[in-house]
Amino acid sequence: MTPSCNSAAATPVLSLTRMAQIEAIYPLERVAVVQAGLALETLQTAAAEHGLEPGIDLAARGTATIGGMVSTNAGGIMAHRYGVMRHRVLGLEAVLPDGTIYSDMTRVVKNTAGYDLKHLFIGAEGTLGIVTRAVIKLEPVPAVTATVMLGLPSVTAALEAISLALRCEAGHLRAAEGLWQHYIQLTATAQGWSEPSFPLDAPICLILMLGGSDQAALHDSIEQIFAAVLDRHPSVSGIIAASQRQEADLWRLREDTDQLYRAHTAAPSYDVSVPLSEIEGYVAQVMQGLAEIDGGIAPYVFGHLADGNLHIVLNRAGPLEPALSRAVERVLYAPLPAMGGSFSAEHGVGAKRVSALLATVDPGKLHLMRKIKAALDPATLMNPGKVLPEPKASEDHP
Ligand SMILES: Cc1cc2nc3c(=O)[nH]c(=O)nc-3n(C[C@H](O)[C@H](O)[C@H](O)COP(=O)(O)OP(=O)(O)OC[C@H]3O[C@@H](n4cnc5c(N)ncnc54)[C@H](O)[C@@H]3O)c2cc1C
Repeated sequence: MTPSCNSAAATPVLSLTRMAQIEAIYPLERVAVVQAGLALETLQTAAAEHGLEPGIDLAARGTATIGGMVSTNAGGIMAHRYGVMRHRVLGLEAVLPDGTIYSDMTRVVKNTAGYDLKHLFIGAEGTLGIVTRAVIKLEPVPAVTATVMLGLPSVTAALEAISLALRCEAGHLRAAEGLWQHYIQLTATAQGWSEPSFPLDAPICLILMLGGSDQAALHDSIEQIFAAVLDRHPSVSGIIAASQRQEADLWRLREDTDQLYRAHTAAPSYDVSVPLSEIEGYVAQVMQGLAEIDGGIAPYVFGHLADGNLHIVLNRAGPLEPALSRAVERVLYAPLPAMGGSFSAEHGVGAKRVSALLATVDPGKLHLMRKIKAALDPATLMNPGKVLPEPKASEDHP
């Protein structure tokens, strides 16, 4: 983890790599008490020994720490079911800039004993304090999973398929990831993946994963979903993973985002949340708007379709020159507030998106954010320049 607490430095000055213990797992409570430097994957492995999981998963599982995930309010592929990090944290310990230790390591779901202040630190990106320990809620791991990839004519068709999967009686929907054509063509080509019965020409591919206890029943459910989708859209292609290896291969098509950055060094990337019924129109509007800026821009779009979180990466080496960057952000971000979306879904604001925050934030919220920052970190010691711009002299310590 790399929170900085030195206003002069952009380099990390604090490391929690030695605070990486699992202090306890309570299988009957379905709760883990962990230190902030712990990697997600280490918690996943330890919890799996009890048939449990943290209810959150992301491709960076090997390196993402619990402290970093708490601080960015990470989401990932199961957020539609188990929520984002904010919903996984029962208790929290943090060290404030003045050295106060905030400790509320409750292990219970219900706790109305005063303000629930842990939420100040969740998603604060290290600007209000250093998260040191957390109590994480766990969920049962399904005994078996089944995965299908569908090539679909539209986002609406993909959302219909997700609705069918949510109604599955043999199990539950674990993940529903959308891969627009340009994205899957890139990862499939880079990985040498091809399947004669699955041409990569559909506007959008959907990877659905179900979890349950009976492999045969789950497989039947996946087949029923495929058949129901085919009924409505006869041109749909589909692949049902017949083995764990095939399942992993399908998921690699989604998770191998490194390919984007190999093709386009430091490609500019965006991470937006869009209400489900607005996605189709939003993506069309964005494609058109970007093409109007520059006919050569053809973004890669993919993401967590079940919760409306889209990752959009430009087919350009980054960084963009400032005027172009502003024009691209206008196209991507301007429609979002009116439709009830967000310019930052799960990657936070950091230093890169401060101007986007200022352009879209409600003035009342900004006022409150500044008051909280000034109350907890009046000297702006913690991750200066992130989330909020440095206060102007006139705004300092009212
Ligand atoms: C391949 C890939 C896939 C990803 N997929 C997803 C995804 O699906 N969903 C998602 O939400 N994110 C995703 N991410 C982003 C990832 O979740 C974040 O990188 C992760 O949550 C941050 O954890 P970290 O330990 O790497 O934190 P860092 O990147 O080191 O830090 C992130 C921020 O939190 C602050 N911070 C870190 N630790 C602490 C602490 N203990 N106390 C206070 N502040 C702290 C840092 O200063 C920084 O501002 C992905 C990243 C990659 C590389």
